[in-house]
Amino acid sequence: MADRYLSFTGTAPGRFLTRRLGLPQPAPLRRWSPGQPELDGETLLLTAGESGLDLSFLPVKDASDRPAAVVLDATGVRGVPDLAEVHAALHPVVRSVAASGRVIVLGAPPAADDHHQAAAQQALEGFTRSLGKEIGRGRTVNLVRLTDARAAESTLRFLLSAKSAYVSGQVIGVGPGTGRVSPPDDPARPLAGRTALVTGGARGIGEAVAETLARDGARVVVLDVPGAEADARRVAGRLGGTALALDITAADAGARIAAALPDGLDVLVHNAGITRDRRLVNMPADRWSSVLDVNLAAVLRTTDALLAAGTLRSGGRIVATASIAGLAGNAGQTNYGASKAGIAGLVRSLAPRALAEHGVTVNAVAPGFIETRMTAAVPLLIREAGRRMTSLGQGGLPVDVAETTAWLAHPASGAVNGQVVRVCGQSLLGA
Ligand code: NAD
Repeated sequence: MADRYLSFTGTAPGRFLTRRLGLPQPAPLRRWSPGQPELDGETLLLTAGESGLDLSFLPVKDASDRPAAVVLDATGVRGVPDLAEVHAALHPVVRSVAASGRVIVLGAPPAADDHHQAAAQQALEGFTRSLGKEIGRGRTVNLVRLTDARAAESTLRFLLSAKSAYVSGQVIGVGPGTGRVSPPDDPARPLAGRTALVTGGARGIGEAVAETLARDGARVVVLDVPGAEADARRVAGRLGGTALALDITAADAGARIAAALPDGLDVLVHNAGITRDRRLVNMPADRWSSVLDVNLAAVLRTTDALLAAGTLRSGGRIVATASIAGLAGNAGQTNYGASKAGIAGLVRSLAPRALAEHGVTVNAVAPGFIETRMTAAVPLLIREAGRRMTSLGQGGLPVDVAETTAWLAHPASGAVNGQVVRVCGQSLLGA
């Protein structure tokens, strides 16, 4: 369902009327398209506190009148006095950041043995989220906590680019890169020679994920239920991939995926998901268990099976799908919220072990309100609230989740592990 309000506010009378009435004025977001530069202008680099971070691998400048992006290196912030430098650095430039521009704050992990440093670094989180809520004009603000700048290159490039149009107000941790970050031979096709399997890939977000991973060079396997086989074949055919008709709740789903991929798998995207909404008082056991089974139990079973079988090759990536409903809770969705919170638990616990034992990273995307058939069926007022109660004032598109997945799947993203990244336009739900 098209966002008519967004189209209306893009016209001169729409702008006039909504301004007079004090209504939200969402800015059309700039999204990536082939041939476009990653960034539509210059990146200004500022520093707060004493930092030795070397970001010379990025096209950053010390001065710019109208930057498309500002990177504030605050890794050296060690106490409250240093926070004044955060204000001093950004206060004069924030107004001049271009529409759909980017502000990225770089922080250090809060130290367990230095509560002054920890307080100041945690302060950056509240700062980032607050600036995200006030900056407007389609601009995003994110915080990246890192120890090794080079290991964060794929993350910084993603956040600087138009590919992260709907990612704002996020805190992303990037670990040390030792042996985990392999730049691709061809930056335009980072997944060339790799195989990616997308569950629930016949439509919606999964279809967009399959398309984006294929664009990045992956050979895609589009898995969906037998009832959606025709659509799965259509998507796979268009992308030069293959379809796999399979219900992921089948007890032998992992074994059948392994059998279908004798040469192994590099990227496993757990996207399939269902909703069966009812308030708990009215929810029969079968509605509860079907959601828990598809959204969580099947993800655990197939992940375990594919890791144990060695199907997921070293350097591999698992990207699971959570939801902001699982982080914030949502009336009528105790089953769905439980299943999606479970995904976050799975990711955080498995990530270090999967990396140590199998060389595979495990992360999740947590979509907010994304314009799909699922959300087109939501009643009008709730749909409008879902779109407007975000810092960007609009719903996201399936491609926004797909681009975030592609960043996590990137060969140079091996230091991003155990993260749950919301793709929600900084939704006020659970923010
Ligand atoms: P969708 O209903 O359009 O597509 C889901 C796909 O999963 C369908 O093709 C379906 O056939 C497939 N599927 C369902 N059960 C399956 C099973 N047992 N085995 C194999 N395939 C199965 O949904 P969508 O909106 O594209 O959502 C995709 C994912 O994103 C889901 O996990 C959903 O919970 C999550 N999500 C979506 C939104 C949103 O706003 N649309 C928000 C938060 C999270």
